[in-house]
Amino acid sequence: MAIPIPSRQLFIDGEWREPVHKNRTPIISPATEETIGDIPAATAEDVEIAVEAARKALVRNGGKDWANATGAHRAKYLRAIAAKITEKKSYLAKLEAIDCGKPLEEAAWDIDDVAGCFEYFADMAEAFDSKKKTPVSVPMDTFKCYVLKEPLGVVGLITPWNYPLLMATWKVAPALAAGCTAILKPSELASITCLELAEVCRDVGLPSGVLNILTGSGPEAGAPLVSHPDVDKIAFTGSSATGSKIMTAAASLVKPVTLELGGKSPIVVFEDVDLDKAAEWALFGCFWTNGQICSATSRLIVHESIAEAFLEKLVQWCKNIKISDPLEEGCRLGPIVNIGQYEKVLKFIATAKDEGATILCGGARPQHLKKGFYVEPTIITDVKTSMQIWREEVFGPVLCVKTFTSEEEAIELANDTHYGLGAAVLSQDQERCERLTKAFQAGIVWVNCSQPCFSQAPWGGKKRSGFGRELGEWGLDNYLNVKQVTQYVSDDSW
Ligand code: NAD
Repeated sequence: MAIPIPSRQLFIDGEWREPVHKNRTPIISPATEETIGDIPAATAEDVEIAVEAARKALVRNGGKDWANATGAHRAKYLRAIAAKITEKKSYLAKLEAIDCGKPLEEAAWDIDDVAGCFEYFADMAEAFDSKKKTPVSVPMDTFKCYVLKEPLGVVGLITPWNYPLLMATWKVAPALAAGCTAILKPSELASITCLELAEVCRDVGLPSGVLNILTGSGPEAGAPLVSHPDVDKIAFTGSSATGSKIMTAAASLVKPVTLELGGKSPIVVFEDVDLDKAAEWALFGCFWTNGQICSATSRLIVHESIAEAFLEKLVQWCKNIKISDPLEEGCRLGPIVNIGQYEKVLKFIATAKDEGATILCGGARPQHLKKGFYVEPTIITDVKTSMQIWREEVFGPVLCVKTFTSEEEAIELANDTHYGLGAAVLSQDQERCERLTKAFQAGIVWVNCSQPCFSQAPWGGKKRSGFGRELGEWGLDNYLNVKQVTQYVSDDSW
């Protein structure tokens, strides 16, 4: 059952604050196409106030501030946030499903992951207390050298709409654990749960200014954050096109960025697989979160000898995927996030058809749903590597297929992309899996699965999927400055 959408303001310096220009943006339900609420729309003026608050929180009280607090102190807040999120799990999951259209069950997994990620970085913050200072061995005994790891400062965190609260958490939790203060700018297409994170921060008494949350558009609220001289780093997740703009804008200030961008990830299926298990992973890997996953294994590369049977199974199973309002029991595929994305996905399918590909199943709005931005799970064959559907990220429930006959051909097809986020191989032959693991040009490799992701393991891509790694110890390093300290220790007088 739908629930009322809370009306919130910007979250700055520990308080709700109306945007300077008092503007708000409507929230359109992707399932019903109705306006269900609105969010505040921040502009450069609000960014200015939030950056000042974050800067104050970093260095206030003569050292009793966030940056200089112990990791153990910061961990207490992160744990309290995790506990509060778990307490509000079913509420937050509903809001997430309503806002971005993902099935309620998947939204609930996301909220579990959010709490788990805050817990994990609470542990990391505690452990960091003994790792802040590490000696470095140098070849002259008149010098003593060590490394200090320090918070980078005030960080700008810009996130997308496909996992609204989870993508925000992947940045907020390590940034706060490291001792940075932050301004989070979630996507204007799905910001509700990020504003609820503000409420959670208030509930647990997070010191004011440590986390500020500004909703609003990319150009109006995101760009001023990137170009603000007092923001020490930008961590961005979103499309490669926006990532490139952010990198360009940050370059003029020589501001560090980490970029988690799009993908067009392959899944290679060899002839020795169990067809049922392989079909499950292939479908999950592409259609989970309505196909709107950066790492979706949306290019299926299947051995010619099993292609017919495998595709027959996939098509059959696609027919059984329940497409419905994301809050409905048993929903497996909800609507695309908004009309713009919906039309974009349908255009991709139309272009594939025009270019000579075959729509094996799906390819349109489901007949039984008259409202909402729904697209059937779609499988496309007779694909050429020159086609747009093979080369570009669709970000919708669309799987394109090519067959192969040799391992070399499979590798060549898998790497035939500008992207390099994920890659999967399904085979019972362990040595073959290891060869493909090495050969894949990607930041993440899945063997006999697709998509599992853990807070402990690094996440990120290569090529046009970006650079830098989130999660794990790499995630914490994103928010730390490495300071070399060398001391002269000779007895000689000066
Ligand atoms: P997007 O690039 O349109 O927007 C992402 C964020 O950037 C939003 O908050 C937006 O408001 C902001 N933005 C837009 N223009 C900006 C500008 N000029 N300056 C500053 N900020 C700006 O992406 P999206 O449509 O929200 O998300 C989908 C994309 O995200 C897909 O390409 C997907 O692959 C990618 N993604 C990547 C990962 C990953 O881990 N690599 C994870 C999730 C999503």
